[in-house]
Amino acid sequence: METDVTKQLFIEVSQTYKEEGTYTENCWKFLENIFILIPVTNSVLSALQFVFQTPLLPALDLLDNNKIKKIISPSGRCVFQVLGSSGTPYICLSVLTYCSCAAFRFSVLRKRDYILCKHLLAIKLGLAMEKVKEQEVTDEVMTDIIKHIE
Ligand SMILES: [Zn+2]
Repeated sequence: METDVTKQLFIEVSQTYKEEGTYTENCWKFLENIFILIPVTNSVLSALQFVFQTPLLPALDLLDNNKIKKIISPSGRCVFQVLGSSGTPYICLSVLTYCSCAAFRFSVLRKRDYILCKHLLAIKLGLAMEKVKEQEVTDEVMTDIIKHIE
């Protein structure tokens, strides 16, 4: 689960990203850039890799391909939708650190192999980099989305 260490990491990602502000279309290029430009970021990335492990690269890939959407309704409710690699949309609750994918149930909750699944990690990184699109829906649609969370 999320700890002070992970929270601090997302803050560092956010700060570094704001200082640099040169996110290109290509996340890999972004990674290369921050490796070259800011020594601090190098350590941030290493720390991200160390803490989040395998889900980090797929998460950056999701971010790179704009697969993350913040869905908001007039009543103020908000969920995140991440389009998985197979095209399956997963609903994530960022505040509660929940994802509807199987990896979250199995590798995060049951086996505790990882702190976050790639979808949640992509959301956290996307929020830190302010790279998450928003979509407004009606309260009825939001109710429907929430009702169908497994
Ligand atoms: Zn997930």
